Amino acid sequence: MHNAALAALGLTGWRYQKLPIGPERFAETVRALPAEGFAGVNVTIPHKEAALALADTATATARAIGAANTLTFAADGAIEADNTDAPGFLEAVGDVSGRTALVLGAGGAGRAVVHALVQGGATDVMVWNRTFERAERVAGELGARAVRAAEPADLIVQTTSVGLKGSSDPFKALPLNADTFEAGICVVDLVYRADGTTFLAAARSRGADVIDGLEILVGQGAIALERWTGRSAPRDVMRRAVQDPGLA
Ligand code: NAP
Repeated sequence: MHNAALAALGLTGWRYQKLPIGPERFAETVRALPAEGFAGVNVTIPHKEAALALADTATATARAIGAANTLTFAADGAIEADNTDAPGFLEAVGDVSGRTALVLGAGGAGRAVVHALVQGGATDVMVWNRTFERAERVAGELGARAVRAAEPADLIVQTTSVGLKGSSDPFKALPLNADTFEAGICVVDLVYRADGTTFLAAARSRGADVIDGLEILVGQGAIALERWTGRSAPRDVMRRAVQDPGLA
């Protein structure tokens, strides 16, 4: 996705590459990257909290979420932490003001989504999590409401890792069933799979509007690319690359 975007922008000297790093070498390796010519990095599990901790400065979004997925290196090597999952979510979902929302999951992705919804003006943001104490903590810190069972909402956002493997029934692990979905509500699944998820297929078949996790992946990636390059990200190119990696 990023390399397709860099090519489309004519940034021929740029490259997005994978750097597998263990937690014990994380901080030391990242601090060395600016001098090696890196403009920034995306950070994923399990490094998101460590990324925020090592940065010299952080955006209000990253601080509120307590984790960073994007680090940007200044010319002098200073490191700024940001979390583009939250704005990437809002970019994909659109205006959430005045809407009620049920968020399933209170992990890293759940925190970013709850923050985005509260900041975006959603009226009643409910958080359900398998481990209820975690839902209570996230809701308390971010201005939402923890719930033990699913309650009706205009927007249902699935942020747990349930459905990642595709084979098992997601509704066995979640506090709702397919009949919860109906026309007029919007259902989002942060989990993305090339063949789609069972959760979204059920929502679509009952007439709900659906937003695929790939749209959020593109949104968060596009915003990160803009931080690093200062250029407007070609979202259509990035979307085509994630939908069909063979074209990238
Ligand atoms: P995480 O911090 O490890 O959190 C995992 C979450 O899933 C927790 O809420 C956990 O509940 C829940 N969970 C795991 N197994 C479960 C089960 N069997 N039944 C019920 N709940 C279960 O992971 P994360 O960073 O939030 O990521 C979660 C998912 O979102 C991943 O699939 C990731 O790929 C996806 N994601 C997508 C995007 C995107 O751009 N589309 C961005 C970020 C993440 P407990 O607290 O009870 O363990």
